[in-house]
Amino acid sequence: MGGMPDSLPRIAVCGISLEASTFSPALTTAEMLAPRWGEDVLAAWEFWRPGGSLAHRAEWIGILQARSIAGGPIPAHDYDALKAEILGGLARAHAERPLDGVLLDLHGAAAVVGMDDMEGDLALAVRRVVGPDTLLSTGMDLHGNVSRTLAETLDLLTTYRTAPHVDWQETKERAAANLVDRLALPVGRRRPAKAWVPVPILLPGEMTSTRQEPAARLYARVPGIEALDGVLDAGIWIGYPWADEPRNMAVVMVTGDDADLVLEQAVALASELWEAREEFGFAAPVGQLDDVLAEALASTARPFFVSDSGDNPTAGGAGDVTWTLARLLESRALRDSGLRAIYASIPDASAAQEGARTGVGGTVDLVVGARVDDRPAPPVRVTGTVTAVERSEDNLEVVVATESVDVVVSAVRRPYHLESDFTRLGLDARRADLVVVKIGYLEPELFEMAAGWRMALTPGGVDQDLARLGHRRIQRPMFPLDADVDAVDIPGRAVLLAGDTGGARAPDALG
Ligand SMILES: [Zn+2]
Repeated sequence: MGGMPDSLPRIAVCGISLEASTFSPALTTAEMLAPRWGEDVLAAWEFWRPGGSLAHRAEWIGILQARSIAGGPIPAHDYDALKAEILGGLARAHAERPLDGVLLDLHGAAAVVGMDDMEGDLALAVRRVVGPDTLLSTGMDLHGNVSRTLAETLDLLTTYRTAPHVDWQETKERAAANLVDRLALPVGRRRPAKAWVPVPILLPGEMTSTRQEPAARLYARVPGIEALDGVLDAGIWIGYPWADEPRNMAVVMVTGDDADLVLEQAVALASELWEAREEFGFAAPVGQLDDVLAEALASTARPFFVSDSGDNPTAGGAGDVTWTLARLLESRALRDSGLRAIYASIPDASAAQEGARTGVGGTVDLVVGARVDDRPAPPVRVTGTVTAVERSEDNLEVVVATESVDVVVSAVRRPYHLESDFTRLGLDARRADLVVVKIGYLEPELFEMAAGWRMALTPGGVDQDLARLGHRRIQRPMFPLDADVDAVDIPGRAVLLAGDTGGARAPDALG
């Protein structure tokens, strides 16, 4: 194989990865983003560790990587501090010996208070530090957004191809591998052409799971496009609906050395996405909570899962909305049925500590939740017996058995996506009657376990009923919020950004 440079390329790794609801009153501080530095940045991924597929193909330099589960926006001061550390680290590494590449770890739906496009801002700032000759690559979440600024500033962009994201590791690896492969080419042939096509669709992830149509067939098209001669990568970013920024919508990108082909393929795939817009629907039968509870109680399917979707912490909900728990606790129908429900979870640090102090077997009368998001409902009383106290490095969880609900109270919000998230608290979700979880579509283990499942359209920062949120700053018209979308011209929205190999149709390449 020719083309490999004499010495290994130097590639810095850095980024801020967050999915932030601008409709949530929660904030995500720098501390919550748990920054890691140097070698610890690299420890997150297998592929560049000794023995990994890319270990010997580059000199990997960890700078700073910050990530958190979804939440609210980052305070401007906290973002400025993280950004300054990233830029300072990059500048030092670049001064030692010029960096050939930067791998940016981005989700794509971060928000900063007072700023619309964090990823675009960070990419521009990184570009200013490393200069025009360094290749910038990222592997994103398909719920992220790709502004034109981000598409122009980065050289290589790819994204997940599954939701739930079972391919997140291979996407990060593909972003790194594409970067290494392009750096093996001679200077002047490294940058692919990029076709960027914004599609004015804004849908919750629960309507766009790749387990169901039309997302299944649209995403299934991606590997075939990628395999074409002259194409490097293809992606569909379905976008993030719980932020109110001009960039929030779907984007299709195709990159490669054949500029005409990448433009043609991107327009074709974006057009297919647009034509399929009316087909998107919720992955689970949905309903208002009262109806869903009535159906769950009447059903013989056990366990019957109910998604408390409007406050899903992994989508950006504050996590401590009490609205659903309060209705569950006061449900006369549930009490009369003799059935029991598990509720996971309600975060409240002081209540969790009080429960832990009381200890297993003790009786508590806690006031929990609505410390961060009290808009839908006030704090709720949870009275019962403590059945579990579980301490971990970053959390404290207590289970309180009330008359008919086992309530998980956690010190900080966290997802409940695995069977072990329940069993380690002494809760047998597999044999439970009802399991109510703050989640959207069920993650694979819960999906497999659930005999019945309904998604309740509950209030919160990630309300699935987007029209209730009242977007003001997104581009219009936007499907499905606006009725009149007939004039949308997908080919006319396509932008071709030329790479090193140029291309006949590159009107925006130099702009
Ligand atoms: Zn996602």
